[in-house]
Amino acid sequence: MLHTVSGFDRIGEENAFAVLAKANKLAEQGRDIINLGIGQPDFPTPDHIVEAAVKALRDGHHGYTPATGITPLREAIANDIQMRTGVATDAGNVLVVPGGKVTMYLAIVMFGEPGVEIIYPDPGFPIYRSMIEFTGATPVPLPIREENGFAFSPDDLEGLLSDKTRLVIINSPANPTGGVTPPEDVAKLAKILANRPDIAVMSDEIYGRMTYDGLQHVSLGSFPELRDQLILLDGFSKTYAMTGWRLGWSLWPDALFDKARKLAVNAWSCVNASAQYAGIAALTGPQDASEAMVAAFDDRRKAVVEALNALPGVSCATPKGAFYAFPNIKETGWKAKPLADKLLQETGVALIGGPDFGILGEGYVRVSYAAAKDRILEAMERMDDFLRKSEAA
Ligand code: PLP
Repeated sequence: MLHTVSGFDRIGEENAFAVLAKANKLAEQGRDIINLGIGQPDFPTPDHIVEAAVKALRDGHHGYTPATGITPLREAIANDIQMRTGVATDAGNVLVVPGGKVTMYLAIVMFGEPGVEIIYPDPGFPIYRSMIEFTGATPVPLPIREENGFAFSPDDLEGLLSDKTRLVIINSPANPTGGVTPPEDVAKLAKILANRPDIAVMSDEIYGRMTYDGLQHVSLGSFPELRDQLILLDGFSKTYAMTGWRLGWSLWPDALFDKARKLAVNAWSCVNASAQYAGIAALTGPQDASEAMVAAFDDRRKAVVEALNALPGVSCATPKGAFYAFPNIKETGWKAKPLADKLLQETGVALIGGPDFGILGEGYVRVSYAAAKDRILEAMERMDDFLRKSEAA
């Protein structure tokens, strides 16, 4: 009998990957599957970024790099953060990591242990809760409500802070809801959190460049008074269609940077060298491909919201960011996960049940509109047909 740590009794997963595997299996069997389950752009990585990685390999960048990342990439990231936040940012606080997810792993491992509390959004990215549970810390869900435009409520957050709170996780624009916390609420969050300098804040801003209807994402990094407790999570996966490259970054306060660096040295030594050169090209090169991608998401967003609202029993708030819609399905009479399962089996449409993002996700499903518009509309037709028949049944 092997005795692994007790965290494995509690650790979770990301069901989007399980749904992807199921959908792929059905596709291999010849079924026509429309995958609105997985959260990744359906665009290729822009050419100039791919070429920068190829060139790096041809130029002989085959070895280890510093654990913290190559200097020109860290500088490009620091410049980018400074440009977006207007707050002076030192490349010495930037850690290059293998993907966006890694920063949440580092932050939660750094603060989680039995007896402490970590506040996280529900519904929210499933790995937050999973990793909190793994460390033995108490997960404290912060409700994210449709009535509040799926934004973070500063009042709700304030009510949850306790003397046991060590880390607060914020995510805007948000997965799975597409909610964007408005600038005035971001400012209130910053004020509340800055009043508790003993609490660390991890702000997951991986969708920060994907907002619509002229709404501007305001980074928590824009508040200098928060910088000594703020961990910023960002990366290349979504903005530059680079999910498979595994490249992300985080910004750490002085007091935490070396701890993060040590975890990096212990776990992965450094990030793939050629991918880091690709990252420089992404941040410092032309942004038109990335902007065109956001424009395409915007177009699909409008189409998907209109189509979802026309489905029987479904109502869908207009998402303001990321590439997810989070329609309310309560009036269909279906529970979310059985509906998602049946839709995949019977209509070939893959989406994710809201409860995979937390208890408050019941009554909703997540629809990723990072798929071709005609396929999205075809999926909506199949859903319409299914819901009308199942309603009649
Ligand atoms: N944070 C959020 C909110 C996400 O939705 C995702 C991916 O879906 C990540 C982080 C992780 O990004 P990456 O694929 O770069 O690890």
